[in-house]
Amino acid sequence: MSDGNQVTAIVHAKLVTPHSVIDNGVIVVKDGRIAECGSHKEIAVPEDAFIIDAEGQYAGPGFIDIHCHGGGGHWAWEEPYLFALSHLKHGTTGILPTLFYNQSRENMLEGVRNVVQMEKQPFSSAIVGMHLEGPYINPKYGAITSPIRPPDPDEYHALLELAGDRIKVWTLAPELPGQEEFAEAAAKYDIALSVGHSEADAETIFSFVRYGLQIGCHCTNASGTTPSPSRYGGTREVGVDEAVLVHDDIYAEVIPDANGIHVRPLMCKLIYKTKGTDKVIIITDGMDTAGLPSEPGDPFEDVNYVEGLGLSGSRLTMDRAVRNMMRHTGAGIVDAFIMASLNPAKVLKLDKEMGSLEKGKRANIVIVTGDIEVKQVMLEGKLYKEG
Ligand SMILES: [Zn+2]
Repeated sequence: MSDGNQVTAIVHAKLVTPHSVIDNGVIVVKDGRIAECGSHKEIAVPEDAFIIDAEGQYAGPGFIDIHCHGGGGHWAWEEPYLFALSHLKHGTTGILPTLFYNQSRENMLEGVRNVVQMEKQPFSSAIVGMHLEGPYINPKYGAITSPIRPPDPDEYHALLELAGDRIKVWTLAPELPGQEEFAEAAAKYDIALSVGHSEADAETIFSFVRYGLQIGCHCTNASGTTPSPSRYGGTREVGVDEAVLVHDDIYAEVIPDANGIHVRPLMCKLIYKTKGTDKVIIITDGMDTAGLPSEPGDPFEDVNYVEGLGLSGSRLTMDRAVRNMMRHTGAGIVDAFIMASLNPAKVLKLDKEMGSLEKGKRANIVIVTGDIEVKQVMLEGKLYKEG
């Protein structure tokens, strides 16, 4: 068995690197890290290695999901460990439990505490931080509005003190009063700020880049289409999405569900074409229902649809999201892994540790078919098996 201490070799794999696919590649794993990786012609398989035969399928870096609220019947802030495992089996080896704007002050603190104080368990290192989506967002663009609140220094200082740089992403609406002070406080912990549930104008958004704003939260969902008032009647303003699309240093998050309900396929294409491979991040925005079986052929198969509330996040796991993104945009597998692993690793400043198959990085690896069906998942050199 591969227990993480022994040398393991993945053979007969098509290796997905950030530059190309290497046919018949080999990955040698030692002490939980990638020791060697490349063509079978160049890499010798150690004699005593535990062999994993990829049988000609693709091996790529494990997916990293920076925006996900739940999965497998669990909410991320209540049962972060079970939540992470439910996504790990779908190839997500790095995940940010994402707390919601629909939480009261007490629940927010408790949720963050649950994640921070989580005990180390097998495979719990798939949790690489957390994302707070709100609560300082614009109530006009939240599905549930009551707990949304203006920036509250007492609250955010308490959250920052509790979690510090464990908070990797924080979504905010820059147009709210008091937001600059908040952004300045968050910047001390090197948190990637994300503009979302907002109707800020482009100039306001750009002025937050110096505080670390570098993400457009689920691009083309829950963002104001034009800041009001528009300067001239009948003209198109630069809204949040356009501002995100046009700024070179801002990544666009995308939720690619199968039927283009969150982001229609044409819009996926537009975002991909405008931002390019290097600035798109595939996310799930998964709810507690993510990864649970759904009716085949149901147009809402990937969507969390709540009666009376409408669209409320997704049921996606990263394998499905990546497959959908490839179908909607025509992106190839190299680009798909950049958008689902390398880019999120960069935004979390974890790209020295994960995000690509490279010597020295953690052995977080997925073996998938060309249609992104997950065959094997490895986290820090250990194969994940359910149960
Ligand atoms: Zn969300």
